[in-house]
Formats: sequence, structure tokens, C-alpha cells
Amino acid sequence: HAKANGKNQVAFFDSSMTRELVRRREIEGELRAALQRDELSIFFQPIIDLATGKIRSFEALVRWFHPEKGELRPDEFIPVAEETGAIVTLGNWITAQAARAAAQWPDDITLAVNLSPLQIKAPGAALGILNSLRDAGLSPTRLELEVTETLFLEDSPTVVSFIEELSAVGVRFALDDFGTGYSSLGYINKWPFSKIKVDRSFVSGPNVGRKSDAIIRAVSQMAATLDMDIVAEGLETIEQVSAVRDAGCNLGQGYYFSRPVPDYLAAMLLAQDRESDNIRHVFG
Ligand code: C2E
Ligand code: MG
Ligand code: MG
Ligand code: MG
Repeated sequence: HAKANGKNQVAFFDSSMTRELVRRREIEGELRAALQRDELSIFFQPIIDLATGKIRSFEALVRWFHPEKGELRPDEFIPVAEETGAIVTLGNWITAQAARAAAQWPDDITLAVNLSPLQIKAPGAALGILNSLRDAGLSPTRLELEVTETLFLEDSPTVVSFIEELSAVGVRFALDDFGTGYSSLGYINKWPFSKIKVDRSFVSGPNVGRKSDAIIRAVSQMAATLDMDIVAEGLETIEQVSAVRDAGCNLGQGYYFSRPVPDYLAAMLLAQDRESDNIRHVFG
């Protein structure tokens, strides 16, 4: 009996794994063409100053509108792009598009772009970014690159020179998804981060409570002492906004403020921000 069950289970996993593999293969094959076919676009999600309610920057988030599969999330195709090496072309395209949009914003609004480790370790990565900025007419001081700790898992001279080269011209770095990996303070000590992004799992879900609150407080205090910004990601409710603000986060991001939106809507959000001195209902 057990054996029959086991066999069924194996068959079940087999077919779902096969399906997964087929989907990956398809994505792999279609990704390069997708760029040419204009199926990819960059969305922008505002990052809000929790003291004023105003937009401080936008994070660029890539979207793929697939003709048959519908909207694909980056978590599904970025890893595939990394495996195939397509991430370099894709990453350069993303930075170029995002920088072009950001060049239209007021000078005090910055742009955040996510970079994957393979993209950074590819030859000429820093130059690719600087070229995109130059072509778009965006000052390097308005760019912030979001990286995760996985970048530092192995010591790499390429990573060192990438960060040094770009820091030297005023590009800033943010440590993304803080609290999900090793959360090593060593990385914060070693690298010139200007911002820590506290992962969404500290804001909502089963692990939120007295302990997560205490951790955010401690990290916020450290960030303030080191003159770093600290962003809470994934804010969906006013209660979450109040909680992270009380815990010391100076910036916030999440559906409560805005979902990621296309560039023309990002520009509208900025115009709204300028026009009104209305403090957002965050402060109620
Ligand atoms: P991330 O950089 O941590 O981005 C935050 C993710 O949380 C985004 O998902 C965003 O849409 C989502 N999010 C924002 N606010 C909320 C909220 O209130 N609730 C919930 N449930 N989610 C929220 P997205 O766009 O699917 O991106 C997922 C990840 O893919 C990103 O995580 C980033 O690591 C990666 N990624 C996105 N765009 C790019 C890109 O252009 N290049 C690279 N290399 N990676 C990218
Ligand atoms: Mg990010
Ligand atoms: Mg994140
Ligand atoms: Mg993430």
C-alpha cells in the first residue's frame, strides 16, 4: 500500500518538476526576444519620507508582459536570466530605461535600481552603468544601487572594484532584504552603504511581534548613528506605517503608499506631491 502511495507521489512530483522545467526553458528561450518585442517595461515604486509624507525616491522594478503567460514577476525570470547570462543585456537595458525616466524628475528625487550579483561580476559592469547614466543625462549622485548580501558570500576583487569605482563618482548603495540572510553587521561595517532596507517579513507575516519590533528599533538606531537611511519594505496598512515609524525607520515603501507604477504615473505622483502641501493621511 505504502509503496503504491509512494509511487504516486513520485509521479506527482515528477510531472510538476517537468512542468516547472518546461516553463523555465520557455522563459529562457523567449527572454532575449522579449526585449526586442518590447514586452518588458520598468515600473517605479515610490519610497516615502515618513517624517514629511513626501516622495524621496523611486525603486525601478522590471515587469514582463508576456503575450500568453501574462504578467511575469522578476522573481521568476531574473534567476533564469542569471543562469543564461542574459542578465547582463537585460540589466543594462533596465538601468538605461530607468535612468531615462529619472532624468525627467526633480533633482532631489533619486532612482534605486536592483542589481544581481552576476550582473555586477560581469566584465565592464560599472562602465555599463556609467554609460547609461551619461546617455540619459542623470547625475551619478542620483543613483542608488540595491544589492543583497549574497553579493558578498565569496570575496571577489571584481565586486570591490565595482563598488569603489561607482562610489567614487557619487553612486550610493543600499543593502536590500536586510534580515533575510546572514544579516551580518560585518557587511555594513565593510561596505559604504547609505541605506538599509528592512525586509517585508519584519512588517507582516508570522514572524512579526515584539522581537521583530525590537530588531527594527536596534537597526534603526544604528542606522541613525551612522547617518544611514532605513527603509521599511512592504507597508500595506496604516498600522504598519505607524509601527515602523515609531520604531525609528525614516523611510517607507509599500502598497499602502503606492504599488509599482509605469513612468507616466510616477511623474503624476511627483506632480501631486509638489502641488499639495497636504501631508499624507499617514499622519492621522
Ligand atoms: P525587492 O528589490 O526586495 O523588491 C521589493 C518587492 O516587493 C517588489 O516585488 C515589489 O513589487 C514588492 N512590494 C512592494 N511593496 C509591497 C507590499 O506592500 N506588499 C507586498 N506583498 N509586496 C510589495 P517584485 O517587483 O516582484 O520584485 C521582486 C524582486 O525581484 C525584487 O525584490 C528584486 O530583488 C528583484 N528585481 C526586481 N526588479 C529587478 C531588476 O530590475 N533587476 C534585478 N536584478 N532584480 C530585480
Ligand atoms: Mg530592491
Ligand atoms: Mg527587498
Ligand atoms: Mg527581494
